[in-house]
Amino acid sequence: MALRDVIGQERAVHILRGCIARERVPHALLFAGDDGIGKKLTALNFAKALNCTGGQGPGARGQNETLFEVTDHRTLDPGPRTLHDSCDQCSSCLKIEKLFDPESLILSGEDEKSLKEKIYVSHPDVALITPYKDEIRIEVIRKLEEALTYKPFEGRYKIAIIDNADTMNNSASNAFLKTLESPPGQSILILISSRPDMLLPTIRSRCRRINFNPLPFHVMSALLREKSGKYDEGRSLLLSALSGGRPGCVLNEDLIAQRDRFFASLKRLSDSVDEEEKGDIDELLEWAQVWLRDLAVFKATGRADLLINSDREGEIKALVQGAALKGILKLAQEIYNIRVNTRFNLNEKLTRNYTGLLIRKRLGRLNAGK
Ligand SMILES: [Zn+2]
Repeated sequence: MALRDVIGQERAVHILRGCIARERVPHALLFAGDDGIGKKLTALNFAKALNCTGGQGPGARGQNETLFEVTDHRTLDPGPRTLHDSCDQCSSCLKIEKLFDPESLILSGEDEKSLKEKIYVSHPDVALITPYKDEIRIEVIRKLEEALTYKPFEGRYKIAIIDNADTMNNSASNAFLKTLESPPGQSILILISSRPDMLLPTIRSRCRRINFNPLPFHVMSALLREKSGKYDEGRSLLLSALSGGRPGCVLNEDLIAQRDRFFASLKRLSDSVDEEEKGDIDELLEWAQVWLRDLAVFKATGRADLLINSDREGEIKALVQGAALKGILKLAQEIYNIRVNTRFNLNEKLTRNYTGLLIRKRLGRLNAGK
């Protein structure tokens, strides 16, 4: 695929193709936005477009000057579909394409293996870095720095894509900052993050930030039907709403089964303290927001057709019976605050118990259960 095939991120793609058209690509870019909405996909396709040697890619220019003057991305017309994009066929494009499925590649060398770092390389000038055990360590940043000191081997640019860049630990961040302060020529660093506020401000300020947004439900629903070939309209709309417009979340897992599991868990928390309860607290809190959204909507309107989880009407109706709208909204805010704070490694059990207590209190169920 190519940049032109990225669905639902037209604005970001437009800006990136504009950078190629202007031949002014920032040394450092920050792709910011929720997980599962196409940041990495766009980054890889951007890398393909930058180093493409066939078709109309910048690497093929020279005999084929088709640039036009551009002063503002809002007025930029990227022109024909293939202009300022990859050909998706040349050897450079095919090599980079392999990074779409990095796990299928072996790591770039025994050294990296022993360091337990993840640098994926399928093109000599393009590297994809991902965290190992939720962390990017200084060793991998040093490797990156070293790789960037060499001139591009066969592409036009040296490109490093750092996925979940906010997982760089302190020493890695500081080392990376030095690279950002004096980036080697022809190098392009693309940071990807769903939590850009966790990056050092000094890193953020040195990157050109491009925001990615969740997909509108109707766009995502059409995409799902096309990609999967198995969902009808109702189900694809439910999945779009459940995922909050994040196709990556649906294509990678069974979202409905996941929802059922977490909703059951929330229901148990609303009944009593469950000492045995386990599972990812972060995900639980994320699902709690979807759950509370429906509770609030049903309490306010009494309309099942406005629910995301319209197939769970009975349960939602029962839950809101003893609750006041004000309490549900307050709870939603409290859950949101807890979610923000779980980034600082709160004690999981305490957080779960506290969340349960808030749910019972705000939904008027303190005396229910035990
Ligand atoms: Zn190509």
